[in-house]
Amino acid sequence: MADEKIEKVTASDAEWKKRLSAEQYDVLREEGTERPFTSPLNEEKHQGIFACAGCALPLFPSKYKFDSGTGWPSFYDSIHGHVETRTDYKMIIPRTEYHCARCGGHQGHIFEDGPAPTGLRYCNNGVALKFIGE
Ligand SMILES: [Zn+2]
Repeated sequence: MADEKIEKVTASDAEWKKRLSAEQYDVLREEGTERPFTSPLNEEKHQGIFACAGCALPLFPSKYKFDSGTGWPSFYDSIHGHVETRTDYKMIIPRTEYHCARCGGHQGHIFEDGPAPTGLRYCNNGVALKFIGE
């Protein structure tokens, strides 16, 4: 799925704590989940790019966003090569976790109940993203 080689960015926990807000740190570095319907990005409908809040790598163009009604920003596809996935066994049912390919920051989980053309739903923590308008 990688279309290009992404240079990894690493930093110590102390460094991330300095760079990120407490909420961002909890999600990006500790795989926390923000409360639904709390992110202003749920309502973001402008054209632009949703980028990693940890390292600013573009993850989703706004055209991939859709209203899933779940209370988290949702996308039906991602910029290929910019997210990496792994299976997460924290819940009884294994889930597909995904994170930024550059800094490893946790973004959310992928579910297979999204709209066409992919049928995927990238359920993203809004706090882990920053929106860059066109
Ligand atoms: Zn990142």
